[in-house]
Amino acid sequence: GNPSYKWRRVLLKVSGEALAGDHTQNIDPKITMAIAREVASVTRLGIEVAIVVGGGNIFRGSSRAGCSGLDRSSADYIGMLATVMNAIFLQATMESIGIPTRVQTAFRMSEVAEPYIRRKAVRHLEKGRVVIFAAGTGNPFFTTDTAAALRCAEINAEVVLKATNVDGVFDDDPRRNPNARLHDTLTYHEVTSKDLSVMDMTAITLCQENNIPVVVFNLTKSGNIEKAIKGERVGTLIGG
Ligand code: UDP
Repeated sequence: GNPSYKWRRVLLKVSGEALAGDHTQNIDPKITMAIAREVASVTRLGIEVAIVVGGGNIFRGSSRAGCSGLDRSSADYIGMLATVMNAIFLQATMESIGIPTRVQTAFRMSEVAEPYIRRKAVRHLEKGRVVIFAAGTGNPFFTTDTAAALRCAEINAEVVLKATNVDGVFDDDPRRNPNARLHDTLTYHEVTSKDLSVMDMTAITLCQENNIPVVVFNLTKSGNIEKAIKGERVGTLIGG
């Protein structure tokens, strides 16, 4: 690692929504390439990067459960499978520009990717490989934000960098209210008590209990991932 950067090992959370870009297709290859390029530039500096991908661009269990008898658990398993599709796409993009990348799935799909093995994931990171964690936590009723917090704690990453389509956490919806103000910093308590919908409650409390700071930032602005990973001021910092 390089001591001049704020973080040495980071957990980047990329939502499915972010991967969808302008929504003309499920996964926008321009977005995966932009992510790959910025991740490449920081791994070259010796910063270790693990990624948790969401699946909401393809399937979100909570909003599909109940349709034609689809129970919530089955819907959530479909959602988890969706994250694997995103992970494999992102891995292929990363490897196409020379970043060695491993996908690990929370449940076994060993023809497609490695199973999640914590110590092996850490070893990959130490060797300079990017590790993409797919299939969330492997359990229905959870989210990939919770998977991000969980994997971050497990691999001793120092921060969850949550990539979104807006500049950070606002006091109102910036797409509806042009006067909405961006929070530079927030405490965990402010996030939960004001119901700021940054992450679900399970995810944010897991971060709080393990003192994991969360940086919410805009993925669509070029250079932002790199800034966030290097620990430069960007978006909203949630902590203490
Ligand atoms: N999911 C799940 N358990 C997990 C993570 C995800 O059941 O640990 C399912 C859930 O149905 C969720 C879907 O996978 O709606 C996609 O994940 P998520 O909604 O977190 O993706 P994002 O919002 O980041 O695109």
